[in-house]
Formats: sequence, C-alpha cells, structure tokens
Amino acid sequence: MESRTKLLLIEDNPGDARLMQIMINEAGAHLFQVDWVTRLEEGLNKLRNEEGYAAVLVDLTLPDSEGEDTIQRTLAAAPNTPVIIMTGFEDEILASRAIRRGVEDYLVKGQADGRLIYRSIRYAIQRKKLVRELREGQERYQLLAENIRDVVWRSDLQANLIDITPSVEQMLGYTPEEICRLGYAATTPEPSQKVYDQVYAEANRPENLEKAASGGLSWTFEVQLLHKDGSPRWVEERVVYLLDETRCPIGLLGVARDITERKKADQKTRIMDQRFRAAFQRAPFLMAIFDPDLKYEYINQVALDQFNLKDESGILGKPLGSIRQVVNLEEFSDSIRATLVDGRMRQLILRIIHQNQEYKVQCYLSPLPDDEGNLTRVLAAGYDITERLRWEEELKISHARYQAIVEDQTELVCRFLADGTLTFTNQAYCKYFGCTREQLVNTKFFPQIYPDDIDLVTKKIASITAENPVVTYEYRVYNAEGEVRWQQWTDRAILNDQGELIEFQSVGRDITEQKQAEMDMERMNAALRELSVRDPLTGLHNRRYLVEYIEASIARAARDGGSIGIVMMDIDHFKQYNDTYGHTAGDLLLKQLGSLMLSNMRQGDAACRYGGEEFVLVMPGASLNAATNRANQLSRLIRELHIEHHGQVLKNITVSVGTAAYPRDGKTLDDLLKAADAALYRAKEQGRDRVVSTEM
Ligand code: GH3
Ligand code: MG
Ligand code: MG
Repeated sequence: MESRTKLLLIEDNPGDARLMQIMINEAGAHLFQVDWVTRLEEGLNKLRNEEGYAAVLVDLTLPDSEGEDTIQRTLAAAPNTPVIIMTGFEDEILASRAIRRGVEDYLVKGQADGRLIYRSIRYAIQRKKLVRELREGQERYQLLAENIRDVVWRSDLQANLIDITPSVEQMLGYTPEEICRLGYAATTPEPSQKVYDQVYAEANRPENLEKAASGGLSWTFEVQLLHKDGSPRWVEERVVYLLDETRCPIGLLGVARDITERKKADQKTRIMDQRFRAAFQRAPFLMAIFDPDLKYEYINQVALDQFNLKDESGILGKPLGSIRQVVNLEEFSDSIRATLVDGRMRQLILRIIHQNQEYKVQCYLSPLPDDEGNLTRVLAAGYDITERLRWEEELKISHARYQAIVEDQTELVCRFLADGTLTFTNQAYCKYFGCTREQLVNTKFFPQIYPDDIDLVTKKIASITAENPVVTYEYRVYNAEGEVRWQQWTDRAILNDQGELIEFQSVGRDITEQKQAEMDMERMNAALRELSVRDPLTGLHNRRYLVEYIEASIARAARDGGSIGIVMMDIDHFKQYNDTYGHTAGDLLLKQLGSLMLSNMRQGDAACRYGGEEFVLVMPGASLNAATNRANQLSRLIRELHIEHHGQVLKNITVSVGTAAYPRDGKTLDDLLKAADAALYRAKEQGRDRVVSTEM
C-alpha cells in the first residue's frame, strides 16, 4: 500500500472539522491522513516545521485570524503547498480574490460532498506540482516552443496563465513577460473575455472534468484580440485539458493561431460570392449548381420559371430527382456524375415538361473546383432550343420535298427557230401546256411566256452563237390551267455542216416547287439568323450580335479612320418598377422601350439588349458628341413614354445613360464597352436620369 497523503486541516469549529474528516475518509480512508488544528498559528507552525503536507485546508474565520489575513499568512508560510480555503457561506468575490492570490481552490462548507472534496484536494496538489515542474522545466520547453508560429499557452483551471510561447510577441506585440505582467485585460476585449470565461466555466464543470482523462473534450473558437499597436487580430483558439501524468486535468492548454488574413480573405470571397450570385440570378439562361451528392445548391430565376417553381427555397438542398419535369433525368444525372469524375465539360439536350409541353434545352455541364482545386460541384447552364429545333425540322422537311420534286421530273423537249416558231414538241411539253402537237408546231411559243419575262427569253436566245452554243435560264410561263409556273430551260444551238445556226433544241422542266422551296428556305434561314441575333422580348439585337457588330465596326473604322459612338443605357430603379406592377408589366415596358429605340435610330446603327434592362446603341461613324445627342434624345423620349397595362397607366420611367466613342475611349470591344459602362455608372452615381459621356 502506498503511503498516505498528509493533509493539514485548520478549523476551529469541531463539528465542521469532524464532518470534513468524515467526508475525506469517505473518499478513501486509506488515501489520506488528516492532521487537525484549531488555530491558524498552530497550523502555520506545523507547516513550517513538519515536512510532507500535500495540502492545507484552512477555514477563513479562525480565533486568531480572519478572511484575507488568513489567506495571506497561510500562503506566506507554505509557498509550495497547495492551499484550499473553506468558507462558511458562498462568498464568490472573496473566493475568486483568494484564487487570484494563489489559493488553489475553495470549498463551501455544507455544500461540499466527499467526492468534490477529494477532487479538489487532488487537483490542488497536482496543479501545484505541475506549476513547479513547468517552472523548472521552462528552458527545455521554451526551446521547443520558440520554433512554432502558433502561440501555445498553458493555464491552470482558474485561468491563471502558467506560461505562453514567445511567438505571442509576433501575434500581439507583447512579450510573454508583458502578457504575464499585464494579464489578459490588455489584449482581450470584453466580448472575447466572455468567450474565455465561458470556456473556463465549462472546463470546471464536474461532468467535463470527469471526461477529461479520456481526452475527447476540446474547445475551438474564434476571438478577437488586440495587438499592442491597437489593431484587432482574429485568433482561432483550440483548447484542451492539460493533464498530469495520471491523466488528471490540472489546467488548460491552448493553441492560438492568427487567422486575421484568412478572415479578410473570407470576406473577399463573400463579396465575390455576392457578385456571383447576382450575375447568376440574372443570367438569361437556365443555371443550376449541383453539389457532390447531386443536390441543388443554386438555381437561378430562369430555371425556376422553366420548372414552374415559386422560389428557390423549395429546391435548394433537394436531390436532382426532385424536379420531375426533367424527362431524361437519368441521362442528366449520369452526365453530371461523369463530369464530377473526369472534370470534363459535357453537353446534352434536356427534355423538360412545362405546362404540358415538352421543351428542349441545350445544356452545358462544367466542373467547378473548390478552393483546393477539387472538383466538387457541377454547373449546368442551358437555353431553350425548342423553337430552333422546330425550324430546323421544317427546313429538313422542305428539303425532302424539293428532292422528291426534282427526281420525279419528266423533261419537256422542243425545237424552235430563231424567231420562236416551234418545229417540234414532245409529249410532256404538249401535256404541260394542254395543247396538241398540231396546235403548237408552227406557232410561236411566246404567248405562253409570262409577259414580264418575254424580254429576257428573247435576249437569251439572241445570245446563243456558234461559239457560245448553250445557255440555261429560268422564266415564268402559263401552264395548261393558266397558272403562272417557273421553268428552267437549257437551249442548244443546232448548226449545219457549214457551221451556220439553223435551229435550237431545248430541254426544260418545271421548277416552281423548287423555287418555292428555295424561297421558303431563304425565308427560314433568315428567320433562323434573326432568332440567333434577336432578343425575342424587345425585338432588339441580342448581346451576341452586339459583340459581332461592334467588332465588325471596329475593323471597318480601323481601316477607314472613322469613329463609332456607343450609347449604353440602364433603366432606373427597374426592380422597384417590377415589384410595383409585376414582371409582365415590366416586360411590356421593355418591349415598348425596344420599339422606341428601333424607331429612333439611324439605318446602319444597331440597337441591342445588353442585359436584362440594359441597352446598347452602336452608331458606326458617329462621334462622341453625336452619340451623346442621340442619348439625350432617347432619354427624353423614354421619360415621356406612356404605358398602359391592364387598363392601368404606369408610372413613367427614366434611364441613366453612358456614352463613349471609338477610338478616343478604347480601341477594342472590351475597352469601349468598359468606358461606356463606367460613364453609365457615373450617371447612376450622380443621381440617375441623366446622360454622362466619357468626356464629362
Ligand atoms: P438602378 O437604378 O440602380 O439600375 O436600379 P435597378 O432596380 O434598375 O437595378 P437592378 O440591377 O438592381 O435591377 C434590375 C432589375 O431589372 C431586376 C430585374 O427584376 C429587372 N429585370 C431584368 N430583366 C428583366 C426582364 O426581362 N423583365 C422584367 N420584367 N424585369 C427584368
Ligand atoms: Mg442593371
Ligand atoms: Mg437598372
């Protein structure tokens, strides 16, 4: 059996002394040997003269001493022995003052039970030992600590700093000595102090103390501390129990790390994030971001509209499959997964059901790496190509129709003299014009020709010579039913042995359907072209066209030395307008504004919808001054624009406009648009409803 721990109990009240002894014994009679005295002086004598007291328990109110006096004298007599005071009532202030003086712990009489007393005694002893060891071993420890950037500190459970590494000077500007001398107050503002207080309170909770040995408990938190120069520093603290060799908690060990820079970076990221969100929300195509579990992390307005969702709250965090409107969901999720794996961009056509109609969306998937460069997210962006596909389909059909017609063709054949008198017609020819051969031969064919085209036919025939014996041309005729039809003829000269032209042989066919198809195709091609360069709402050119147009204009201006005026316009407080009258009213306004621009610009200028409610007018050949004049005219007209929506007269709107010109404000597309945008920004800043040019 190990030797028992010697305790000195200084207590004048025999009842209390007796109770204390019982409780100490409860914890383990074999562990402790308690010497009991009733007067302070008697106890202090024992401490001075007898070796081996592991701890002193002293009542604050004794016949020969009181309160603070008791504390002071006991500590002086036994500097190396842990002192625990006993108070008759719960006097927090006195107790905490005592602890600051160096008393290890305090017990409230009548409230302490055996376990608490036992623990208090053990901790007091261990703590004292630790402090001694730490002080003795300081040099070794310092060597170790000097090389780390993090600040390591140790304290006892009463928040008395035991030591702190020199790296604290780099972090807070104070040396470890200064920190120890000044205490926490200098570096720890009130709110942060509360955080530390909270940690100590938790660390001292009996249930946590019990768990300390298993090592699982730790505290991590961020606090703001003050540097010696007054600047605030953000510090991340990781705090664990400081254990003695028997794994009993005797204090706290903290590792503090300066995270001020990281905080700043975080903030920057947050701002970026906000900007990103705004751009994302306003993008004119469907956009969504999926997290690694294929859940919706972001979704923008256009996508919400397409999926018929009121707002994003119902969908964020939900799995991909929760939007049932996607018909080819499996293909979609497989593609996203594949992109997450190989980081490659992909595209697919999504089939989306919206209000009982199927829409096709051309969707692009791109990987989004996180800060560490790992692929953790996928951005899906897409636009509706339903209409485009339909046009293309129609184009294909008319192509097929054309092919069929060409292949079915039976050729018309005839021969005629230079003056147009027919000498021969084949069966097909007769049938086509609804005449018998007898009726045709020896008559001139001109009466069948559409009057406007007779001239052309005469000229073509006249152009045929021995040297240039073949000519092909198209003209209109009246067929058997009297309809106007298109025909294509190839005439060939027939020469006699002397090489003289005696007759023409001609092969022809009806090309009306082909002409029709060609015209259809031309019309559809034009529509397709328009579709890809026009904004459907306003009828203005879209951004893609704008880019091409400015670039082409710059190329021309660079060659010819001309200038280009740029007018960039943004509706003022349009969000508010939408909020007041609704989005459809807003759309109506955009539409009207589009027509207003179209009818107030010169030929050769291009009016474009640059963003949601931003417009750009490109004026090749115009100076900055001309652009600014046009901008003023437009903004005046817009201010007077009168709009009714569902019988309601809507409030007038104003625009802010920025003007710039090539080459004075920039020689590239980007620079030019940037200059106009900067001017627009100033117009907004100066109070909106105005035109600001780069010159102003
Ligand atoms: P500011 O004077 O600063 O330009 O204020 P603002 O409200 O006009 O600007 P902000 O950029 O905050 O908002 C633009 C608004 O334009 C947001 C959006 O509701 C609206 N908008 C964008 N595109 C469309 C559209 O196609 N139709 C409708 N109705 N509104 C749109
Ligand atoms: Mg805007
Ligand atoms: Mg605006």
